[in-house]
Amino acid sequence: MEIRKMPVAPIGANCYIVSEGNEAFIIDPGGDAEKIISAAKNFDVRYIFLTHAHFDHIGGLNNVSDAFPDAKTAVNFFEHDWLYSPQLNFSEEFGLTFVFRKKVDIKLEDGMTLDFAGIKINVIHTPGSTCFHIKKSETSERDILFSGDTLFRSSIGRTDLPGGNGRKIVESIKNKLLTLPDETVVYPGHDENTTIALEKKFNPFLKSRA
Ligand SMILES: [Zn+2]
Repeated sequence: MEIRKMPVAPIGANCYIVSEGNEAFIIDPGGDAEKIISAAKNFDVRYIFLTHAHFDHIGGLNNVSDAFPDAKTAVNFFEHDWLYSPQLNFSEEFGLTFVFRKKVDIKLEDGMTLDFAGIKINVIHTPGSTCFHIKKSETSERDILFSGDTLFRSSIGRTDLPGGNGRKIVESIKNKLLTLPDETVVYPGHDENTTIALEKKFNPFLKSRA
């Protein structure tokens, strides 16, 4: 499995292109659609996953979705309507009115699994974002977690946004993410990668609260 990470406009949210053989999926086409399209153009793109529906993670969705019409768009059922509301997806804050032009194909729920190139992708819902977990297998020597804006290297998601709640985020990270194997590589929605072991040890938000 290959994971290509691309920070994209407007504020450098991480878009990921994950491929196995000739198949791929894209996580969070937040902007710079042309860059994402050209990086993914040789793949059969099966899914476009959204960790959540804030503008910096969805800004390139219309163009990327047009470029890969067979890719299924998947978003957490709770944030589905945000794709169609510039107020809720915060594009208004950027002076834009983002509205998804198509219908969502998959409304994600906690505990779902999706098939991709013979691999299972596990959907984990947390208050900050939908996370995507892939167990280690022949294609990946360690577990992989895409943690959206829930868990960052040495930080956690903002709790001042709608849907954000400090205590709930911490509880959910502890119960659902820190229970993954220590060596799991974490690919967050912003900034650098980390691992579950490092966050258990060094993340101040997870240490300071019981
Ligand atoms: Zn973000």
